[in-house]
Amino acid sequence: MPAIFVGHGNPMNALSRNAYTVAWSAIGAGLPAKPRAILSISAHWYVPRTAVTAMAKPPTIHDFGGFPRELHEVQYPAPGSLEFAAEVADLLMPVAVMDTNWGLDHGTWSVLMHMFPEADIPVVQLSIDETREATWHHSTARRLAPLRDQGVLILGSGNIVHNLHAYSWGKRHAEPYDWALRFENGVRKALNSGNPEPLIAYEGLGQDALLSVPTPEHYLPFLYILAQRREDDSISFPAEGFDGGSISMLAVRIG
Ligand code: ZN
Repeated sequence: MPAIFVGHGNPMNALSRNAYTVAWSAIGAGLPAKPRAILSISAHWYVPRTAVTAMAKPPTIHDFGGFPRELHEVQYPAPGSLEFAAEVADLLMPVAVMDTNWGLDHGTWSVLMHMFPEADIPVVQLSIDETREATWHHSTARRLAPLRDQGVLILGSGNIVHNLHAYSWGKRHAEPYDWALRFENGVRKALNSGNPEPLIAYEGLGQDALLSVPTPEHYLPFLYILAQRREDDSISFPAEGFDGGSISMLAVRIG
């Protein structure tokens, strides 16, 4: 099974049909098989621990404010799986704890509504420990590697460039900033070169990185996907573009 990173961007993408969401649908339809389960690492579950949602029916969490009522009414009724949650926790022993309070946040469901509209594949979320550094996340994520061989789709949902302060509100199709383009191009180049180190140590990439990744939570899900890369894996970018000039909608498919 490939591992996939998706730039989720605006929560309203959940209800929109646009170039991004059409691409997300195509990602789902283009997998070699229907996944047995989905492990989602979302930017929006950024807490001081590594936790795994252990629930049979994860609730749809509307973790935002100020959006239209129809977005607050969205339900993505995919089942969870206690067994699969335990498998994930076993791979991450002893760092992962079982969680019964979270559910599926919009980083997960705004994408999965398009990728798998039937909502019939069990979904488990893995939180991002905000107290750890990027190298830890990458090396920990490598322990999830066996899941790909077991028909599990590992999905990272964030944005490789995510600067809401620079976002052109009301001008969704604003020209991307030079620093945003340079940083995203650097990521593509590093991916094509096969050397993950500059992507893990992204903070060393200078001013462009400071502006593109002002806070880590939307970038770190990408490292969880990068960590799944094997030598013979192909790399492709099934969705791309910029939203508001400062949000990269780049999706990365590994394998
Ligand atoms: Zn987000």
